[in-house]
Amino acid sequence: MMRPNGSEPGRERRGSGGWADVLAHEQHLVAPGSEWRSALWAVASEQFNSAADRLDLDPQVRVRLLDPRRALTVNFPVRRDNGDIEIFTGYRVQHTLAIGPTKGGIRYAPGVSLGECAALALWMTIKCALLGLPFGGAKGGVRCDPTRLSPAELERLTRRYTSEIFPIIGPDRDIPAPDMATGEREMAWFMDTYSQQVGHGVPESVTGKPVVLGGTAGRQAATGLGVVFSLETLVERLGWRLAGQRVAIQGFGNVGAVVAGELSRRGASIVALADVAGGIVAPNGLDIDAVHAWVAEHRFLRGFPGAEPKTQNGVLEVPCDILIPAALEAQITAENAPRLQCRLVVEAANGPTTPEADRILTDRRINVLPDVLANAGGVTVSYLEWVQDQQKYFWDADEVAQRMRGQVLEALDRVLTLADERGVTWRMAAQMVAIQRFAEAARLRAVYP
Ligand code: GLU
Repeated sequence: MMRPNGSEPGRERRGSGGWADVLAHEQHLVAPGSEWRSALWAVASEQFNSAADRLDLDPQVRVRLLDPRRALTVNFPVRRDNGDIEIFTGYRVQHTLAIGPTKGGIRYAPGVSLGECAALALWMTIKCALLGLPFGGAKGGVRCDPTRLSPAELERLTRRYTSEIFPIIGPDRDIPAPDMATGEREMAWFMDTYSQQVGHGVPESVTGKPVVLGGTAGRQAATGLGVVFSLETLVERLGWRLAGQRVAIQGFGNVGAVVAGELSRRGASIVALADVAGGIVAPNGLDIDAVHAWVAEHRFLRGFPGAEPKTQNGVLEVPCDILIPAALEAQITAENAPRLQCRLVVEAANGPTTPEADRILTDRRINVLPDVLANAGGVTVSYLEWVQDQQKYFWDADEVAQRMRGQVLEALDRVLTLADERGVTWRMAAQMVAIQRFAEAARLRAVYP
């Protein structure tokens, strides 16, 4: 049956309010949903739609799932160190309110936009649902170049951004966390600003805080450790041995550096690494302790003795068994996917593979462990931090890591099992498991009023 505005009922995601007719006559109007437009939203929504197509979802439920439920855009002044006032734009997008409060990081980057936050918030919903966490997804950030702001300017920006989004955040509403260019320092300012507004300390208002403020043991290494736990088990299920695998990692920050250290400790050979300034390659394996010492002294990887220099993107194409993009979005594209020389891609970054590249990798039989599973150790430990803050009782790093490991491996098992049963990619299976869970929550809560 076709609706009056021409869309098929199964695919329809909006009310049939006659938009098609309105748009035909009013050229200056933008199509509903275009407020989320961004390259990343196109990727996230395509992944969602193709998984939703495979699930036999009630169209009445599906119509409620894709678009973010709530978004706040703020423009706010910040005093620079020289006395000038500058206006910054920030966002907070809450993707689904169906399952408890929302959860997701805050990033400072020049490319931050409403559409980028919307895509990342949708992925957070998928991640939380896949891991069985009692959260919907959220994401926020400020459009800025954090490398050009002094610590004092970053503090004023963080505090003002926190008070701008104050009306929609809180321990039972939306709990921020670190993301690109934010960490413990920013979370401490965030927690302090939130606490000043309500008049008492509220550690559970944010995760990724310093331990002394109610942070959890093991949060900083959590995302990297989660990558390693899932990879270890996956490799075993594939009948490989982790020891001796050649691994290339793009990114040597909070995630990439932890992954490199943990994998080399388990006997894997790290043949390539890259950071923002460029990459290094050593086909016989890098000494990761020596690399850490070099970076501590020289800030960047470049110039590391005995390794061949490569571009940041060049490391994606070196011969290896396991390729781990652990930096930015959209790194593996239709352009370079045909040249990858690995057997397995593990997405430690959010959204590193475009859908076209994904199809090329599937055709080339290169399996991809998707971001929503591979890097979910971070948000899982954030959940454990929030739980500890609420109960005012804290676990040690081992306890935290073991609880996280259990949750990540359970999700991995569900994904691999569904992928086998249905003959779909791991990404598709991960999306399907997650969508089923939050679709069920939306269905049971029904529509108010
Ligand atoms: N920013 C991280 C992510 O993309 C963590 C979010 C959180 O801990 O809430 O998963």
